[in-house]
Formats: sequence, C-alpha cells, structure tokens
Amino acid sequence: MRVAVLASGSSGNAIVVESNGTAVLVDAGISGKRVAGAMDSAGLTPETLSAVLVTHEHSDHISGLGPVARRFCLPIYATSGTHAAIDGRVGTCPDRVAIDAGRRFEIGDLTVAPFSVSHDCADPVGYSISDGTSTVAIATDLGVVGRSVRRHLEMADCVVLEFNHDEGMLVDGTYPWPLKRRIMSNVGHLSNVTAAQELLRLADGPMSTLVLAHLSQENNTPELAAASAADVLDRAGRADVAVHIASQGEALGPIEVERTCSASETAKA
Ligand SMILES: [Zn+2]
Ligand SMILES: [Zn+2]
Repeated sequence: MRVAVLASGSSGNAIVVESNGTAVLVDAGISGKRVAGAMDSAGLTPETLSAVLVTHEHSDHISGLGPVARRFCLPIYATSGTHAAIDGRVGTCPDRVAIDAGRRFEIGDLTVAPFSVSHDCADPVGYSISDGTSTVAIATDLGVVGRSVRRHLEMADCVVLEFNHDEGMLVDGTYPWPLKRRIMSNVGHLSNVTAAQELLRLADGPMSTLVLAHLSQENNTPELAAASAADVLDRAGRADVAVHIASQGEALGPIEVERTCSASETAKA
C-alpha cells in the first residue's frame, strides 16, 4: 500500500491511498491540475483514482472537489451531513454516495471504514483504509481524539495524524482571540502536545509509519511538530517508527506502508 500526501494544511488538503492499482483520493482541497501534476511526479497514475472520499465541508478540503470529480470522473463519498453542506458548492458531479461513520464499504480491493471526528462542521469523519494486508488511518481536523478515532489509529500500520499547532505560538500569535479559542476547542484542531500524547497509546500497536499532517503555517513549525513526536516515540521505545512531515506546498511520498508483526503475531511465529 502506498500513501502520498499531495497537500496538507489550512490552504488545501489531498491524500492519495493506492494499492494494487486501485487508488482513492481523500479530500480535494486543491485543483484538479495540481492533483494530476502531483500524482504524476509521485509516479502515481491519476487514472487509477476510483473515488474521492470527503472528510468534511471546510473549503481547505473541498475547494477543488467539483472540478476534481468531473476531471477524473470520480464518485464523491461523504456523510449525508457533508453532502448537504456541500450542495451548491461543487456543481454537477458524476455521482454522490452517502456513507455513515461506523459502516465499512469497499472500493475495488480497498476496504474503507469512516469514523466520526470532533470538529466544527456538519458530520465530519476520518478514514481507515485497508487493502487486507496494511491499513492507513487518516485523522486530521479534530479537537480531541475520541474513542472511535483511537480504535482506528491503534489498528493502523500508517497513521496520518494532525499536529496542527504549538500552543505557545498560537496563544502568542496574531490570530484574533475567538479564532484561537475555536482552534483550541474540542471541535478545533489537535496541538503538537495532544497529538504526541496519542502516540504513547499507539506504541504497542502495529504503527510503522507516522505522518504529521495539517501543520499550521502560522502557529507551528515542522521542527516543533517533529520534536514533539520524536520525544514521545523515543520514550516509548519506538524510535523505529518512520516519521514523515506533510506540507502545504510540496507533495510527500508515495510512502510504502510496511506491515510490521504485532507483538501477538511475533509470539505465534
Ligand atoms: Zn482542514
Ligand atoms: Zn476543518
């Protein structure tokens, strides 16, 4: 399984998950031209895209959705709440499929499990995507890590997790107070510290790859986010985890997701 983060952050998001020639795009917050160009330069074929899965209706996740769906003739998968919220913002699209958090579905060889996240919009979800061998879980745009999010992160070989902001930079920064309060709220975004704490819980699981995602360009730096993650992974004895940092302007990957034996599998072997 391969994962490419074409763009990540408050100016646009798009992630490709591909396995055995089937690919899905998670969010389309960048143009179709940029999706095609970034996939081409990553050695991925835009024609292999079978669907676009939408996490929520904020414009950094859907600004290119209509054009991308039409250009690549992709059905749009989203919760009913998200579909309602994007009505009138995406134009006429090939197909719209309503999904529910907690209900798995198949796209080619991929099994997709949407899970609810806590964010200030209609009905947001993250996605866990498996090809039967490896699993990637994508959780960005969430104020807290709830039980169902955690369950999916714990089962993932590749975790794409939001490291949005450094709390000190956010508090001392130039954002107006209501926006700061929104970002720090339970329906806002994960700080470096909160996201890193979550890694401790994943230390005993199969996670072999970690992607730090949706970093704020105003209130974070790649160095601070990476240091938060490295500190916790070191303490947990998991310096073996391959850590990548997604960015707003430059595509990351494709990353080959390795399946590592879990402790129980090792015991059986
Ligand atoms: Zn976002
Ligand atoms: Zn959002």
